[in-house]
This record gives sequence, structure tokens and C-alpha cells, in this order.
Amino acid sequence: SLDYRRYNKAGGIFWARAEAQMVDDPFVGVVRLFVLIQDVDSEKRRSLELRRLSQTDPLTGLYNRAALVKRLGRVLRRGTATRHALIILDIDHFKELNDTYGHRFGDTVLQEVASALKDSLRNNDFSGRLGGDEFMIFMRGLSDTATIGTRLNVLRNRLRSLSLTELPLTISIGVALFPVHGKSFQELYDKADRALYKAKRAGRDTMIFYE
Ligand code: GH3
Ligand code: MG
Repeated sequence: SLDYRRYNKAGGIFWARAEAQMVDDPFVGVVRLFVLIQDVDSEKRRSLELRRLSQTDPLTGLYNRAALVKRLGRVLRRGTATRHALIILDIDHFKELNDTYGHRFGDTVLQEVASALKDSLRNNDFSGRLGGDEFMIFMRGLSDTATIGTRLNVLRNRLRSLSLTELPLTISIGVALFPVHGKSFQELYDKADRALYKAKRAGRDTMIFYE
């Protein structure tokens, strides 16, 4: 069975499902192939949309935690030949922003951070919202701390210059590297989280690599 897209007579595209069945015809001594092709466009679009909704955070459109864990697991299971970086970012004093300017404004800030995050990604990377004001970036095939640092500084500078309030928007960052700091999502997350905790303790607006 194969779901695929095909052209209709008007040149538009629709989802089709082809089901093939091979039947051995002992009387004639041939194998016959029966193929049934059906238009499953509306069903397919609905199920793709449901899948998209189940994977994304409605506020920011980024991947949610469950989707991140799943995608990361797939990449990490491919082995330790390629190095990657798992980065956790947490907005500094976000509660104060909420308290001072209101929850709606807080939501806008989260959306701004999400769009800055998306813009800072390369094709290979992916990002998501882990929950609350905590975000994640997964840099695939990258482990050079200087390069990672430079790229994260571009993001920090962009957030700082958003001028949403009179105070600049800052984030704290914790970085863990695959495979040296861990081989599973949980191990890497724990290490990055510890580095993030250190960054907060160091006065925030800081980036720390796990050691
Ligand atoms: P810190 O510098 O230590 O990170 O301090 P903080 O104030 O940012 O504290 P923390 O990260 O623990 O707080 C996150 C806050 O984010 C708590 C919660 O009220 C708020 N929050 C969580 N989800 C949402 C959301 O979807 N929208 C808004 N506006 N606020 C949220
Ligand atoms: Mg915070």
C-alpha cells in the first residue's frame, strides 16, 4: 500500500492510495497483480493536519516536547560518528514580564523568541518549545564550541535588540554535546539543564557549556 500525490485531469494535485495485491493463479501458472487506486485526499489531509497539530505548540508553531524527543531519538540512534549539540534556552525574568505587562504580552514575547529561533537555524537543525519559557535548539553535525557560541550570540543579540520593553530581552543558555555528555535525550537534557542552572546562578544573560 502506498500513499502518494498525483495529478488530476485539471492539473491539480491530490492524495491517492494505491493498494496492490499479487495473486498466484495456479490454473494458468501466472501471478496476477491487482492494483486499486483510490482518491483519499480529504482523509489524508485530515490525518496530516492532526499529526501536525499533535507535534506543534499552538502558541509558537514550534515543535512541542513530545515531538522533539521523538525526532531527537531518531537522530541519536544513528550512532556516535556524528557530533551534535543540544541547547536549552530560558528567558530571564520572564515572570516579571508577565506580571508587569500582562500574560498576553508574555505570549507575544514567546512568539518573538520562537521566530528569532527559527531564523537562526540551519537546514539541519531543529528547535522547539519545551514548555513555559524554555526552548530547545538541536544543532545537527555541529560540536565546535566556538561555532556554536558564535551562532548563539547572533540569536542573543537579535533578542536583545527587539526593544519590546525598556529593558533588553535576555536569555540564559545551557549546552550539552553528543556523544561526550550523553547518548540519550534524557542524559543530554539533564546536562544542558545543569549548565543552564549555572548560567542562571551566574547572574543570567549567560551561555554555559556543560563540563
Ligand atoms: P528565570 O530568570 O530564573 O528564568 O526567571 P523566570 O521569571 O523566567 O522564571 P521561570 O523561567 O521559572 O518562569 C517561567 C514563567 O513562564 C512561569 C509562568 O508563569 C510563565 N509561563 C509559562 N507558560 C506561559 C505561557 O504560555 N504564556 C505566558 N505569558 N507565560 C507563561
Ligand atoms: Mg525563565
